[in-house]
Amino acid sequence: MIISVASGKGGTGKTLVSTSLALSLKDNQKIQLLDCDVEEPNDYILLKPVMTGSEPVNMLVPVIDEEKCTHCGKCAKICAYHALAVLTDRVMTFLELCHSCGACSYLCPEEAISEEPRQTGVLEWGDAKGISFIHGILNVGEAMAPPVIRKVKERFPYDGISIRDVSPGTSCPVVESIKGSDFCLLVTEPTPFGLNDLILAVEMVRKLEIPCGVVLNRAGVGDAGVEEYCRKEKIPILLTIPLDTDIAHLYSRGIPLAEGMPQWKNNFIHLFNSIKEIVDARNHSLKR
Ligand code: SF4
Ligand code: SF4
Repeated sequence: MIISVASGKGGTGKTLVSTSLALSLKDNQKIQLLDCDVEEPNDYILLKPVMTGSEPVNMLVPVIDEEKCTHCGKCAKICAYHALAVLTDRVMTFLELCHSCGACSYLCPEEAISEEPRQTGVLEWGDAKGISFIHGILNVGEAMAPPVIRKVKERFPYDGISIRDVSPGTSCPVVESIKGSDFCLLVTEPTPFGLNDLILAVEMVRKLEIPCGVVLNRAGVGDAGVEEYCRKEKIPILLTIPLDTDIAHLYSRGIPLAEGMPQWKNNFIHLFNSIKEIVDARNHSLKR
């Protein structure tokens, strides 16, 4: 089963939920944790994995052979991402904009474009207290997170429970991370900002046809807007974590909630059981 942990906005407690869910389940289940927040991966800070391997993430980008090029301009015209500019005497490339679609090399009438790998990030993996841990790191200054996320997802197919910690927001990297999940947990807080971003996140997962549920973090502040919205939209609130200075202190010291306060493990196991019930019921109704 693949469970994505997402949030409409940053700082809502996504990492806290992902790591504690993994730690609470690992004694009885095969668990994999993928940190897909490749622009700012931080699950490793809490889980402190022993890394056992790494490999570069490369994208194929165009290389122009100026000897063959007639500066016809077709490649720049076809490039939807403005990664090429054809001048009268040369072709300029802006490789950080290239999406590696291959259209320019395919369509060049002079076969003047070849492709070469360009490193945009790195993949690292290891073991975190019995959890199979993988994360991707996008190189500083790179804009293209999805290829690194794809690599994180594809490098280690898994037959246990795979938890994906997704970057905040609802942009392309989030969609790429969530795609293929059986369930999406949306972590939010009971504030107008939390509600606004939750609504956007719910729209996104509904478009992707992935069932979702909410974790309400820092409950006790703000207002009842999130709860009212969830009730109206029939979205289950599967776990509530109160605003608690002890929890905040643990997090600030890099200690996962399920480790610093082991009594929380049962709540996360219960959270998983609720997710499983929803996923099983959905799979059953899809089969009928
Ligand atoms: S399509 Fe080929 S020949 Fe035309 S400008 Fe681009 S590289 Fe040069
Ligand atoms: S590979 Fe695609 S995105 Fe990259 S420069 Fe060529 S046309 Fe543009």
